[in-house]
Amino acid sequence: MSEDSTEAIDDYSLNTYGHTNWAYVSTLDDEQKSWAGTIEGEVKYYHEDKCWGCDMIISKCEDSDYCKEINKVEEEEEILAQNHLRKWGDG
Ligand SMILES: [Zn+2]
Repeated sequence: MSEDSTEAIDDYSLNTYGHTNWAYVSTLDDEQKSWAGTIEGEVKYYHEDKCWGCDMIISKCEDSDYCKEINKVEEEEEILAQNHLRKWGDG
């Protein structure tokens, strides 16, 4: 496998599925095979993006401390963004 081919798969996956969460079928364990996705040739494109923390698809996220930290930061950022909008809205 050259780097060129993984980049091409990344591009294709991003354009088609909106993320770069894919894997070579030959490298998957049974659990990974059970996750929803589309197999094209040697590659499985998951239907969901992957959690940064546990490397699982989002709906299978293990919710480890690391993942909780990521999710907390994302929630706080969302709350900050909402408060900011609210402030502007209240005038
Ligand atoms: Zn996770």
